Amino acid sequence: MDTAGSLPTPWDAVGERLRRRGLRWTPQRSTVIEVLAESNGHITAAELVERCRARDPSTIPSTVYRTLDVLEELGLLRHGHGADGREEFHVLPGSEHGHLHCSECGATWEIGEAQATGVAAALRSGDGFEIDIGHVTLVGRCRECAERA
Ligand SMILES: [Zn+2]
Ligand SMILES: [Zn+2]
Ligand SMILES: [Zn+2]
Repeated sequence: MDTAGSLPTPWDAVGERLRRRGLRWTPQRSTVIEVLAESNGHITAAELVERCRARDPSTIPSTVYRTLDVLEELGLLRHGHGADGREEFHVLPGSEHGHLHCSECGATWEIGEAQATGVAAALRSGDGFEIDIGHVTLVGRCRECAERA
């Protein structure tokens, strides 16, 4: 059986789900979903607006932001913050991970679930604090920069 092209995706029926949250299903919103469905990893709201505008010049940023809020409520996105505090959206958030940023060379990278939950476990066993590690970016010095210092 060839199901290529018709495999269910988390974006199926998103129009209906948005409608139930009180958002009208408009061509603009459908463009937002199209762009997100083609995105992997992280995207900022500004990048999303830019990509939507490339397809539909009438895209209004406030519509994109409102749609992002509701998609996050639906669990299709999850926001975190870059080193500068700027919101970044994880598209279809999967396993837990952490974000690191080197303030000397400006590199950013991710740590996987094992390391991320290790950091969280250390904090929890210390003073019971439960960090939402995917929400933040840890700022410090990468190994190369630390060795150079
Ligand atoms: Zn936040
Ligand atoms: Zn991330
Ligand atoms: Zn560095």
